[in-house]
Amino acid sequence: MHKVIVITGASRGIGAATAKLAAARGYAVCVNYLKNHAAAQCTVDEIIRSGGIAIAVAADVSLEAEVQRLFQIVDEQLGPITALVNSAGILEPQMRVDEMDAARLNRIFASNIVPYFLCAKEAVKRMSNRYGGNGGVIVNVSSAASRLGSAGEYVDYAASKGAIDTLTIGLSKEVASEGIRVNAVRPAFIYTDIHADGGEVGRVDRLKPTIPMQRGGTALEVAQAILWLASEEASYATGTFIDLAGGK
Ligand code: NAP
Repeated sequence: MHKVIVITGASRGIGAATAKLAAARGYAVCVNYLKNHAAAQCTVDEIIRSGGIAIAVAADVSLEAEVQRLFQIVDEQLGPITALVNSAGILEPQMRVDEMDAARLNRIFASNIVPYFLCAKEAVKRMSNRYGGNGGVIVNVSSAASRLGSAGEYVDYAASKGAIDTLTIGLSKEVASEGIRVNAVRPAFIYTDIHADGGEVGRVDRLKPTIPMQRGGTALEVAQAILWLASEEASYATGTFIDLAGGK
């Protein structure tokens, strides 16, 4: 079967690394992004130069109409989806819970929780044998923050990832008998741009001494785990998590 993967937030970071590795493993790839067209095009160009198939689609995955348009474009240009990786996410500057206002909380929950549900909905409607699909996989990019709590930095973000863990468990049970596996990775301390959004570009290096493995991780190391969960090698795994946090 032709493998088609939609990866949200694939212009940069973990999503981009997953897109390139997925293409190398034979998937036709939809590189979704929000606004950084140049970065998305760069990911797509690299895949095409290596002989792969990829399209870039700008869509704000926190908006239902945009998500529907994204999946329609994939239907038309790549064919039936077989895998979804929910990776798009944001951080806000570090602060304590007693400093956070409702506007910030709404931005974090709207950007980090709602998109995973909306994209999972569109993927299930296409992949579930309940709707005539041939099955498939969903991999959610959660975070070790859901276990650790991110005290003093961003408990709101950590809580949004707690919701993703619960989505992973609940949805996996909902669709397990319909040919769909749903799993998650829980990375931490990965060298990407997201730490700049949190107001601390050098965060991974600052925390290195506190990580049992004494180093940060790479986006490729996360991509490898995501694509293992998406592969047939993980055929009996659903509702489960791979922690990628250097032992933390
Ligand atoms: P990143 O380098 O900052 O990339 C974020 C990506 O998400 C970009 O492609 C961005 O698109 C996209 N995006 C953000 N909001 C979007 C929206 N509403 N609609 C569509 N795309 C959107 O982040 P990253 O570090 O790779 O993070 C990827 C995922 O891993 C996130 O869910 C994050 O929470 C999780 N994670 C990261 C770490 C880490 O240490 N880096 C640890 C644990 C979990 P544009 O380029 O267009 O802005």
